Amino acid sequence: MKEACGVVGIVAPNRPVAHWCFDALFALQHRGQESAGMATFDGESITVMKDNGLVFSVFDERTLMSLRGSFAIGHTRYSTSGSANWTAAQPVYRSAGHYGFAISHNGNLTNTEELAREAGILPGVMLSDSDLVAELLAMRVDAGASLEEALGEVLPTLEGAYSLAVLEGDAIYGIRDPFGFRPLCLGRLGTEDAPEGWVVASESPALDIMGAAYVREIRPGEMVKLTTDGVVARQIMEPASPSEKLCIFEFVYFARPDSYLMGHQVHTARKRMGELLAGQSRVDADLVVGVPDSGVPAAEGYAAASGITFGYGMVKNRYIGRTFIAPDQNARATAVRRKLNPLRENIAGQRLIVVDDSIVRGTTTKALVAMLRDAGAAEVHLRISSPPFMWPCYYGIDTPRRDDLLAATHSVEEMRVAIDCDSLEFITLENLRAAIQITDECCDACLTGTYPTSVPVGIGRRGENS
Ligand code: SF4
Repeated sequence: MKEACGVVGIVAPNRPVAHWCFDALFALQHRGQESAGMATFDGESITVMKDNGLVFSVFDERTLMSLRGSFAIGHTRYSTSGSANWTAAQPVYRSAGHYGFAISHNGNLTNTEELAREAGILPGVMLSDSDLVAELLAMRVDAGASLEEALGEVLPTLEGAYSLAVLEGDAIYGIRDPFGFRPLCLGRLGTEDAPEGWVVASESPALDIMGAAYVREIRPGEMVKLTTDGVVARQIMEPASPSEKLCIFEFVYFARPDSYLMGHQVHTARKRMGELLAGQSRVDADLVVGVPDSGVPAAEGYAAASGITFGYGMVKNRYIGRTFIAPDQNARATAVRRKLNPLRENIAGQRLIVVDDSIVRGTTTKALVAMLRDAGAAEVHLRISSPPFMWPCYYGIDTPRRDDLLAATHSVEEMRVAIDCDSLEFITLENLRAAIQITDECCDACLTGTYPTSVPVGIGRRGENS
């Protein structure tokens, strides 16, 4: 699975903010490594700089100096809809209105065909859903509406997941869809008594890196307007469900461990996942190892609860960007070996419990198990800190078709055989919820098939498909 995107928006009166925005994007790099971009407003015009690549390769001192002004939004991107080429990099800019406007979007819309018809886009013309939103807003602004009015008209027509940072000259809007699928939080520069600026960001470490204080999460359906005068919050859409539907995989895998989501630190929740997973059954083993990165805290929790020694079984190469695999190579095995290398002296002859966050197609997991056996592991018992992934995601996570999801077509025992491990167990949904300390909050559609919104015909369990 690939992360969706990271967004940020910053206002700091009389201070240049491009370097802060760069730092925030750097902190959100894990949410998208295909492209990065920034739009700033210097009192006269909006400047957009974006390119393919990691944040530090897109921006340098010279470009940051040229991104002037006290208002900035930024974006890190992994493409889940539309093209992965440069034209799909964000922020998306439109020249409508006095200064024009720019949008950074995290999420995925589920009614794009309908929206494209409304925008008059011809069938077959590919636009990212973020471009589509920009187009719909620009149509209204060109017809005389303010951007704030246009947002109030267009956003209720969108279905699916969106956390947005929108720059309009001397205001930045932070908006979360009515379900709250993707995270977005508010931060403050300066003190409570003397604020020096305001920030919205996908995750709290983006605030930490610029020394901003975490204030709160943006509520589902809420819009905050950041200006040099402060923050005005408005509930522009009713929350679509009694409880927030933040993606449960933000806790399992996507978010940084040092992030706070729904009031919980992600690392702590991951440790608890491991503790509860250990309580589900007993297996005799010598060493508990985690698959870096998100499997490691869960492995720590598993080891603490089971009394089996925690150790390191593999090392991750942290510098993986875009990789290329020769056509004659075994693609999955090569991809695993580029990313992970076993610590042979730690695992040779050992009965391992290997904790990972998820199994999607199963091919990567199979290559991982083979690598550990090649390195001398005597037994490999896989423990997974999410329940079986059985349904595709429509809310901004890039997942294969249902037929390609191993758990959709195999029982747990059939999966064990396919992966070639000695035993396999998944955390139950009840224990995952208990680890996050939630009841029915969070989207879990890819685990249950119960989608909060309409999804394409034939998918999902409820009779609510469009
Ligand atoms: S379907 Fe799964 S991956 Fe997608 S938002 Fe819901 S919980 Fe997250």
